[in-house]
Amino acid sequence: MIDLRSDTLTRPTAGMRAALAAAEVGDDVYGEDPALNAFQQRVAALLGHEAGLFTPSGSMANLLGVWALVPPGQEVVCDIRAHIARAELGAHAALHGITMRTWDSADGVTDAATIGAIIAPDAGPYLVSTAAVAIENTHNFGGGTVQPLETLTGISQLCRDAGVRLHLDGARLWNAHVATGEPLDAYGRLFDTVSVCFSKGLGAPVGSMLVGSAELIARARVQRKRLGGGMRQAGILAAAAEYALDHQLERLADDHRAARAFAAEVARAVPGSLDPETVQTNIVVVDTGSRPAAEVAAEAAAAGVLLSVVGRRTLRAVTHLDVTLDECAAAGRIAGALLERR
Ligand SMILES: *Cc1c(COP(=O)(O)O)cnc(C)c1O
Repeated sequence: MIDLRSDTLTRPTAGMRAALAAAEVGDDVYGEDPALNAFQQRVAALLGHEAGLFTPSGSMANLLGVWALVPPGQEVVCDIRAHIARAELGAHAALHGITMRTWDSADGVTDAATIGAIIAPDAGPYLVSTAAVAIENTHNFGGGTVQPLETLTGISQLCRDAGVRLHLDGARLWNAHVATGEPLDAYGRLFDTVSVCFSKGLGAPVGSMLVGSAELIARARVQRKRLGGGMRQAGILAAAAEYALDHQLERLADDHRAARAFAAEVARAVPGSLDPETVQTNIVVVDTGSRPAAEVAAEAAAAGVLLSVVGRRTLRAVTHLDVTLDECAAAGRIAGALLERR
């Protein structure tokens, strides 16, 4: 099976397992896990922030980041396909009383003018006030698209001028960094809070992090415990995440090449199904035309290729550590052949 459903499917490498086994640990609810404390500091600095908080999932890092910026009864504004809006089961509303409004975009990439037209800080006694804007980079359901640094700088300036806070869902910020060569902190400094995942393309088994100011992270730490997210010897997990950062960051470029190879094969067979030029990182979105995506996915699975159904006529392929470029090209040929029959 060539499994391209997600980059979360990666398994710990031998080197990572060795690092896990060797980790020095303590009780992190007591703040006594030395490896984890050092790792949180390191990642915060890497992203241009003061402090970091390790979380069991990216969803919890986003939940805490948005919570730290938005009081109950106010809103966070984001893209219509944002992970926080679509894939976190309404947690921001269900648990924190936060509402959302969205802007539309073709591929998840936005600009300051679009956001400026929507935000309503200090909206008065009758309307919902905007407390924060959330950006996703790279954009998952947008097809792994990168938000240009210049655009993000404009958005950051707009929010600062308007008194609106800014959160980055950077689950795949690593991919944006590797694809563009922009330093991680050049992105990170534009935001009040940033979440990053170690369990996607980086290949760690578990773990994400929220970074921000020391004050904000101290509050988020209490809320994490309240949500049941206090972990004990979490240095074991931090050791895997740190190994991923040290050894499996630059190789994300291989995933990007493999995604382009997959896309090129599909586009060769069915030119209208996708534009290979739009593949910027490790995610490829395929239009199945007149055929239901679920049907094509089932046929692909029977032929040895697993893809995600992300819309009625849309499939998603995600390349990662556990699939080679040749396998991705072969998967593209198989998917292309199935789509030719549409
Ligand atoms: C995967 C992902 C997350 C976090 O997902 P978890 O499964 O909760 O770790 C957050 N944002 C984006 C854009 C993602 O792709």
